[in-house]
Amino acid sequence: MSLASDSDDTPTAASTADLLALRERRSESSDTITCGFCDEETDEETAIRDSFCSFECFRRYKGRKALNAIESDHTLCATCFRVVKTVEKPPWGTELKVEGPRGRGDEDVKKDCLIGYQYPTEHMEKGLRDLKRAVVDDDSVDRRQVVAVPAALRWGCECGNTDPKNRDEILEAVDLEQTIVSLLGCLRTLAAEGTLNSPPSWPQLRDALRDHGRDWELVIGTALYG
Ligand SMILES: [Zn+2]
Ligand SMILES: [Zn+2]
Repeated sequence: MSLASDSDDTPTAASTADLLALRERRSESSDTITCGFCDEETDEETAIRDSFCSFECFRRYKGRKALNAIESDHTLCATCFRVVKTVEKPPWGTELKVEGPRGRGDEDVKKDCLIGYQYPTEHMEKGLRDLKRAVVDDDSVDRRQVVAVPAALRWGCECGNTDPKNRDEILEAVDLEQTIVSLLGCLRTLAAEGTLNSPPSWPQLRDALRDHGRDWELVIGTALYG
């Protein structure tokens, strides 16, 4: 039978000092990185996926990436996520004659490559893009007044959004159930095109919505990455 020596479980004064010194050296030498989402400085050793200060920033980064893809796709409405256009692609290399203003001669006729024909889906409607204000003289009351005049007739989404890239927090909630169904469809399309590795399942999206409401960036990132 032998007695436990100083070196067994209880650190000696010397070993405790060594540990403290080691910890201090580590914190002095540890590098920091800039978070890939919020730009905060964070310890490289504790960074999430080597690039983010927190898991929330990682999720938001992924969610923002998906939203950017939706907003830059002119066939999708960025407010309600409905498909508003389809594009029919002609055979590769089909040429198209682009004519210049009338009466300026054939020299203004140019050839360009035809990318595709686009057609509105049943979710697109023609409406007023916006109203311009005009000042007119009203002789009947002897004063000038401001009236609204239509700027242009433009195609817009049935949700009321007149610019597919535009996000509108009021319009997105008018038919929220449809907005959520369409979002899942968008994410499936992005996955099929290779922008996302895989789409979230409906239960994953539902749980993310329950936790984060209409914070779409965080909802999408959470649905995709938990
Ligand atoms: Zn961050
Ligand atoms: Zn819409």
